Amino acid sequence: MDAEITIIGAGVIGLAIAEKISQGYKNVFLIEKHKTFGQETSSRNSEVIHAGIYYPKGSLKAKLCVEGKRLLYNYCKQYEIPHNNCGKLIVATSPEEINVIEGIKKTAAGNGVDLKIMERDQIAEMEPEIFALKALWSPDTGIIDSHSLMKRFETNILNNGGQIVYGSEVTGIKKLKEGYEITLMNPDRTEYVFTTGILINSAGLTSDKVAEMTGIKDDHLKIVFCKGEYFRIKPPKNRLIRRLIYPVPHQNMEGIGIHVTIDMNGGVKLGPDVTYLDSNDYDYSVDPLKQEAFWKSAHKFLPFLGIDDIAPEMAGIRPKTQRPGEPIHDFYIMEESARGYMGLINLIGMESPGLTSCLSIANYVMNLIKDQNKYFNLGQHIHSQHN
Ligand SMILES: Cc1cc2nc3c(=O)[nH]c(=O)nc-3n(C[C@H](O)[C@H](O)[C@H](O)COP(=O)(O)OP(=O)(O)OC[C@H]3O[C@@H](n4cnc5c(N)ncnc54)[C@H](O)[C@@H]3O)c2cc1C
Repeated sequence: MDAEITIIGAGVIGLAIAEKISQGYKNVFLIEKHKTFGQETSSRNSEVIHAGIYYPKGSLKAKLCVEGKRLLYNYCKQYEIPHNNCGKLIVATSPEEINVIEGIKKTAAGNGVDLKIMERDQIAEMEPEIFALKALWSPDTGIIDSHSLMKRFETNILNNGGQIVYGSEVTGIKKLKEGYEITLMNPDRTEYVFTTGILINSAGLTSDKVAEMTGIKDDHLKIVFCKGEYFRIKPPKNRLIRRLIYPVPHQNMEGIGIHVTIDMNGGVKLGPDVTYLDSNDYDYSVDPLKQEAFWKSAHKFLPFLGIDDIAPEMAGIRPKTQRPGEPIHDFYIMEESARGYMGLINLIGMESPGLTSCLSIANYVMNLIKDQNKYFNLGQHIHSQHN
């Protein structure tokens, strides 16, 4: 085999996996079609370190988020990645929503996440400018500079001896008796073919297409693009908020409601909303006609906000396997031996909380690979002190 382990996709998840695996294995390749890392969903999100509040008990999303946030805070401290454990308030603005937040508190407790109910006077002390009848306080939630995180992963992969190939798109995958043959399209439009023992598909928005290249066709794994648009709060009103403020979420978690996120540079955004796209096209436009709807949603809990205090900002696309109206889908992270594809690991539907969970996902994938050691003659562990 030319490579022992190949990872497709240098988003935050592919990078985290490559960092982890290159600590333990030789000959690890990370392939990315763009000229550098993080050009898709990983640089178009809210950059929130989620606590693990809403996800169904026992789901991968719940487990990997709760474990991932702990690992991520530690990692940020270890490598001095800019972050802020600022906390978040989930605000109830009507009596009906007060009942909902009680339910959220229970779900969160089931995931081992402790939330505190805050009364009006306590809320006023924390965030004097917002309106809420009651709120849930999540002290574990925070924000992170995801670019710095990805840059650190890249540096560590290279220091571990891993190889990163930018500007090359995987266009074909052939299953061999052992391992896989990968065809790459280089930037100069020439093709390059190589073989790998283990193949990890972390291709984000096109991870279903990459799985199809191997021969796996499964309607449950088909991704539909679901856009989330953001508006920014212009100065000086952006300075009136210091924490993350979320409304009570939709029932089936298609999104968690237009909320307020702050970033490490003092920017404050409203969003993202939830718009399923008719086709899987990379449409990152922000519709200025949505300004009124954004303002109306946020005005309920940000009474100081005028419609002209906000302006279109940016959009990201969720790689959803969940169709509109369906209950929440879990992450799909699977070693595909059961389908006859030994050594192929697919990660599909890696939407939120994928950033928060990147390090726990990397550990999870590492364990799937360790299970493969008995079948593949993988190289020795070169830095076995890392776990
Ligand atoms: C609007 C929005 C808000 C979000 N907010 C949060 C949040 O606050 N907190 C949180 O935890 N999560 C959040 N998320 C989720 C988080 O952003 C994602 O889970 C995470 O970025 C996914 O990372 P990834 O590496 O799987 O995908 P990506 O970042 O999409 O990376 C996949 C990579 O694969 C490459 N690729 C694809 N096909 C090929 C190919 N054939 N050959 C070579 N390369 C290929 C792509 O170019 C891309 O770079 C949000 C997502 C969205 C859309």
